[in-house]
Amino acid sequence: MKKIIVAIDGFSSCGKSTMAKKLSREVGYIYVDSGAMYRAVSLFCIQNGWISETEINAKELEKNIESIRIEFKTNTEGKSETYLNGKNVENEIRTLEVASGASRVSTLGFVRQELVRQQQIMGLEKGIVMDGRDIGTVVFPTAELKVFLTASPEIRAQRRLDEMALKGEKADFEEVLANVKERDERDQNRDESPLRKAEDAIIIDNSYLSLEEQQQILRTLFIEKTF
Ligand code: C5P
Repeated sequence: MKKIIVAIDGFSSCGKSTMAKKLSREVGYIYVDSGAMYRAVSLFCIQNGWISETEINAKELEKNIESIRIEFKTNTEGKSETYLNGKNVENEIRTLEVASGASRVSTLGFVRQELVRQQQIMGLEKGIVMDGRDIGTVVFPTAELKVFLTASPEIRAQRRLDEMALKGEKADFEEVLANVKERDERDQNRDESPLRKAEDAIIIDNSYLSLEEQQQILRTLFIEKTF
């Protein structure tokens, strides 16, 4: 069976990472959550006081971009966790504040350049599933399997709310929906690598698909590409 690169792109809170993680576990591939890398940069800015409601101190961030070390380590339950400069930040990067900051820092060209460089190194030996916004278009334009995942904003907001509730976090549906829409708008309209479907990507709308149904579609596509 040949080793390939699987690129899964799409809107926020579509379930890209659930899908990507599951496939990577089934087929023994490395899983990389590229959104976690933008979130880690956002957290780094928050920690240093370089991001406010209206501005980002891009000058300081650019000066220090090379001192940001992002790694993924597998915990004892087999779950991949994000580390920022040696510290486990997996929970810290999942807040709405960090997500909002991530969608803002991800509009900066030098941030994208550095993270894309790191992502391309991770994929040198193939056997990788990476999810994000620009994986099939910019990071791995020659990926053998490209999927573009989508679902309605309302369904995505409800899923995000359910996820937060499971962690004991409270949020308002309208607030989460506004956050989803704001990020869609920014992701699609930024100058640097806007979110768009690669020409050769396969669209999966999972608004009304069960997890198992969407996984079966992905599994079938994977088998087609690897044999
Ligand atoms: O996927 P996730 O919601 O964790 O991503 C956080 C933010 O990082 C997104 O809102 C998006 O703006 C940005 N991102 C990106 N390119 C990627 C992955 C994420 O611009 N490849």
